[in-house]
Amino acid sequence: MRIGVLAIQGNVEEHVNAMIKALKQVNRKAEVIKIKHKGIVPTCDALIIPGGESTTLGRLMEREGISAEIKKAAHSGVPVMGTCAGLVLLAQHGDEQVKQTGQPLLGLMDIRANRNAFGRQRESFEARVDFKGLDSPFNAVFIRAPCIAEAGGDVEILSNYNGCIVAARQENMLALAFHPELTDDLRIHHYFLEMIR
Ligand code: GLN
Repeated sequence: MRIGVLAIQGNVEEHVNAMIKALKQVNRKAEVIKIKHKGIVPTCDALIIPGGESTTLGRLMEREGISAEIKKAAHSGVPVMGTCAGLVLLAQHGDEQVKQTGQPLLGLMDIRANRNAFGRQRESFEARVDFKGLDSPFNAVFIRAPCIAEAGGDVEILSNYNGCIVAARQENMLALAFHPELTDDLRIHHYFLEMIR
């Protein structure tokens, strides 16, 4: 099994390390590799789109031809986890800010993403959130986090915070507004690993 982490910008190393740790915890073997150019995505059994700056990430992915590969993989059923900026990129629709920048989205989930949804005065914070399927709250780290403002009928809502949707799943796609790779609690990684079967 091969898990690819998009590695053109953002917090890549943390995702690689967290995934390696999560795999060990559940005794599963997989290679975790960094996706820096075209040609790697088609060899992966699962993909992670990390946080960073969704405008930059989207443009670079598009330019490098990686966007098209991710869309193809996702449509064929390859599980994809997007965190923070990754959530924005998975969305089909964006807010005014997204429209203004004209930033390219992958458009894989029937959701509307609001960038920087929690305001500048609360750039980063932690909150305990309930997450569907987990038996106790998850300590979620939010960094200039987006939220999901609207979700279509096929989208399963997994977590809410302050009246906003902060985690959702649509078939093989998992979108998180927070950063599960920045905490020692890897239950959401385990959840994602369950999606890779
Ligand atoms: N606010 C950023 C964006 O929309 C995301 C921040 C993050 O990924 N930590 O691109």
